[in-house]
Amino acid sequence: MKHLSGMAFFAELNRRLAAVSPEALSLTEHNQPRSPDEKVLMVLSDDQRRLAVVVNELTVEIKGLLAEHKAQHRNGSDHSDEDCEAFSRETAPKIDELDTMRAIMWSALKKELPEVPETGIGIRAGGELVELAPTNPIEELLRRSGVVIVGDDGPHLFE
Ligand SMILES: [Zn+2]
Repeated sequence: MKHLSGMAFFAELNRRLAAVSPEALSLTEHNQPRSPDEKVLMVLSDDQRRLAVVVNELTVEIKGLLAEHKAQHRNGSDHSDEDCEAFSRETAPKIDELDTMRAIMWSALKKELPEVPETGIGIRAGGELVELAPTNPIEELLRRSGVVIVGDDGPHLFE
């Protein structure tokens, strides 16, 4: 995929935001329901939900690409180092795009709610922004942020 920069990036973001279906705004497809011990900090507006949907879609897209690539490794077929490098080159801009969109989303949310903590928060089904329960905050944070680790054998999404 071609690397998007400047206005092209925002044109693409706008296109993605406009393409979000009304059903997707429920944020039930990719976001887990809130557990009873999680505190609701705010409920996202439709605009904020659109951003969250776009971030989810990109995350799923990239996870799919990475899973596909990992499968090629497992199959051990005719997968060369050049194939790996080409994959990393093609995937890196998409991961960069996801990082930027995620940063835009969290920045927008923090402007609404300046007292929102830096860590330990997440978006639940129904668009609830919650303070995560302290049971396993690291795991939740990594899951929420979809941490991407780039290693020698290409980028891997934390799973
Ligand atoms: Zn590879």
